[in-house]
Amino acid sequence: MTTASQPSVPIDTGRAHPARVYDWLLGGKDNYPVDEAVGEQLPPEAKAAARQNRQFMHRAAAWLAEQGLDQFLDIGTGIPTAPNLHQIVQDILPTAKVVYTDNDPIVLRHAEALLVSRPEGVTDYIQADARQPEDIVQHARQILDFDRPIALSLIALMHFIPDEQIAHGIVRDLVAELSPGSYLVLSHAASDLYPELAAQVTAEYAKGGIQLGFRTRAEVEQFFDGLELVAPGLVTATEWAPSASGSVPEGSGIYAGVARVV
Ligand code: SAH
Repeated sequence: MTTASQPSVPIDTGRAHPARVYDWLLGGKDNYPVDEAVGEQLPPEAKAAARQNRQFMHRAAAWLAEQGLDQFLDIGTGIPTAPNLHQIVQDILPTAKVVYTDNDPIVLRHAEALLVSRPEGVTDYIQADARQPEDIVQHARQILDFDRPIALSLIALMHFIPDEQIAHGIVRDLVAELSPGSYLVLSHAASDLYPELAAQVTAEYAKGGIQLGFRTRAEVEQFFDGLELVAPGLVTATEWAPSASGSVPEGSGIYAGVARVV
């Protein structure tokens, strides 16, 4: 079963958008010259970071489904890129329900790809802004049972909300809605791992009109306040359940963690 509700919103091709720059970094086709212009100015490490971040999403989503988590609320979903979160979790738990949210009209335009659910499961898409968490929760309640565990994923989202108080307030408000046994899955660009690259990336996005707020490890850790980080803790994207090859994971400027609501 799938649901979707919102009317189409015009796409602004006159300025760069985060979802479309990220799509360009991943080698996607759903972006415009303004987005490419930002992407072209970024250091090559930015493409690696996008790929590593996406791989973290794959691993964390699969791990959660393996733990039996069958409800997912994914905010800042991005333009569909196979495999999407619901495909990963429904391969493991076909009845899993996934509610996606993004504030970019281009994600809504492509939402059909997110709504191709397994018949046993449910996917839904909400066009909404993370800065209004209560609206998101209100809508998500139509699909998800908040009295049961939910995996809330904020993957490469919070660095688009530079204001410290607003960002932490959003996460606090969302986590407060979750019942014990739920999880927070969060990844975030680091300001302190590769500081020069971080400054360069922030400056190039700013030239394109996109404000970024990369954070230190301590600042990212605060998002998990009151929660129990699961192994391996707050690490880089490539260190979170790296492939079983035994090789040392490549360096990454993205922090990633999964934590349990107790
Ligand atoms: N979570 C995906 C996409 C990350 S790109 C992944 O990790 O692969 C970041 C996404 O967050 C973009 O799609 C962008 O449109 C969205 N986003 C940025 N600010 C937002 C906000 N205030 N509310 C909702 N979505 C937002």
